[in-house]
Amino acid sequence: MKNFKAKKFREQFPLLYRQRSSTEIHEHKLSDQGENKSLVYFDNAATTQRPCCVIERYQFFYQELNANVHRSSHSLSAKATSAFEQARQCVTDFIHAKSIKEVIWTKGATESINLIANTLGEQILSPNDEIIITVSEHHANIVPWQLLAKRTGSLIKVLTLEKDGRIDISAFERLINEKTKIICCSHVSNVIGKVNPIDVVIAKARDVGAISIIDGAQAVAHFTIDVQALDCDFYLFSAHKMYGSTGVGVLYGKQHLLESMPPYQAGGEMIKTVSFNQPTTFNVLPFKFEAGTPNIAGIVAFSQAIKFMSQFNQKEIIQYEHQLTRYCYQALTKIPQVKFIVQGLPDIPVIAFIINGHHNHDIASTLDSFGIAIRSGHHCAMPLMEYLNISGCLRVSMAAYNTIEEVDYFIDCLTKAINQEGTASVSNISTNINAETNKGQLTAEINSSVATIMAQFSAIKSWDARHREIMMLGKTLNRLDKYARNDQSLISGCESLAWLVVSKNKKGLYFFQADSDAKIIRGLLVIVLAAFNDKTAKQIQMFDIQSYFEQLGLMQHLSPSRGNGVLAIVDKIKCLAMSGKVE
Ligand code: PMP
Repeated sequence: MKNFKAKKFREQFPLLYRQRSSTEIHEHKLSDQGENKSLVYFDNAATTQRPCCVIERYQFFYQELNANVHRSSHSLSAKATSAFEQARQCVTDFIHAKSIKEVIWTKGATESINLIANTLGEQILSPNDEIIITVSEHHANIVPWQLLAKRTGSLIKVLTLEKDGRIDISAFERLINEKTKIICCSHVSNVIGKVNPIDVVIAKARDVGAISIIDGAQAVAHFTIDVQALDCDFYLFSAHKMYGSTGVGVLYGKQHLLESMPPYQAGGEMIKTVSFNQPTTFNVLPFKFEAGTPNIAGIVAFSQAIKFMSQFNQKEIIQYEHQLTRYCYQALTKIPQVKFIVQGLPDIPVIAFIINGHHNHDIASTLDSFGIAIRSGHHCAMPLMEYLNISGCLRVSMAAYNTIEEVDYFIDCLTKAINQEGTASVSNISTNINAETNKGQLTAEINSSVATIMAQFSAIKSWDARHREIMMLGKTLNRLDKYARNDQSLISGCESLAWLVVSKNKKGLYFFQADSDAKIIRGLLVIVLAAFNDKTAKQIQMFDIQSYFEQLGLMQHLSPSRGNGVLAIVDKIKCLAMSGKVE
């Protein structure tokens, strides 16, 4: 077993050495700051980066081993099948399962949960039976149960948290009873980063004869898992959160439960015999639950990720991750505007907080302009946000390849983002959209145009300078009156709040006025409105927003991810112009 050396470990991850452009480096005077010329990747709870050996194994599979598994008698298929089944053995050993029969390949944690809900869930639930879920679950461990509850007439009971973010065991004791049939709990929440007392949960579930399901998506990368010692009924996770491939997941289940469950999806390889004259019979475990061609290359590469991690002293990795967590947490406590969403130091390097007086999205996008990737929003845990009475939060999630220097750089940039007023010049752009209400009609005086915005942005070379320009533009957008920011004008599809109102003059020209609670979105709105205001419905339809944003060097903001929702705003504008609806 190798000793864990943070620097050597990091060197295995090529994407972390992706250099930022020379203009960006120059802009931030990074030349003497070594590491910070590279990406600072603090979004590991969403997905980790892959080491070279995993990338190479993936490529090797396609170059040397590619054939379908279990189906053919030729030698290439035999080799592929052998690598595929060795990967299953590798996972079996990794989680200390009794047998390979208990390890089912899925697409990810989400599919693993859906598999249980749609098979065992259907089988065991009757009307008024109860399912216990914690309030801090990822949507993947909520929505399948909501759908199941609707289909079966069963009820969902929600388990609340202690002040430190761990589940409240005394509340759990009050909630659980003989009607409880299923208990689903994350080993570690993807937002809070605290280890839940799942041993107590599993033991209590067993006492009342309920099935215990542990979502280990955030746990597997950070500590060793022993499903036999835990004695849970099911344990599940995704490969991509522990240096493996996307589209690969694991469902561990106790053999007797898996055997008693009906199949999930139907198709090739999950059957023993198929006939139109006899009932179709199903394959043995684990194949009964693996219909269709799996992600063979991804699974083979995943076993390489496990081997890669297993060569290091696990205790040293855990210690190093704790050191990073503590260091970052303590540095954050020194920033007065930082407010943690729950009390106390997290157990894994996942730290969630808000910044008083700033929109999460503004902070995250400013950090992005400094080359730091963190996540903002609801983190697929909207019930948790509601419970904590926040609209979203920022999340820093680190891995064993992150460094103390990166944390220092992050804290430095976060401080700048909080204090930033912006210095870019927008003197030659006037986007003074003066909305006046006259019997509900809005009129707008638009001085900015696509041409002036293009001219302004063409002079800017670096990503962070463009970011500052957008933030400055945001300041020039006239805010919508309070009354106009309502449910009707709210645009769905944005993680920040954004509102849009429209009017049309006698010549058939449209005028849009918009607003957002995030500064960055207000800046982007100025850019978007310049393209669509004072245009006919036809011109609005014809306008090529992709090429406009491409020329401005702002394609990142047109991402179809829900991050900022610019595409949703553009869709709403086009939709309103098409329908001719004027509010
Ligand atoms: N559960 C938890 C706790 C998670 O963090 C995630 C991913 N963020 C999931 C489930 C879903 O995982 P996947 O998208 O890989 O299926």
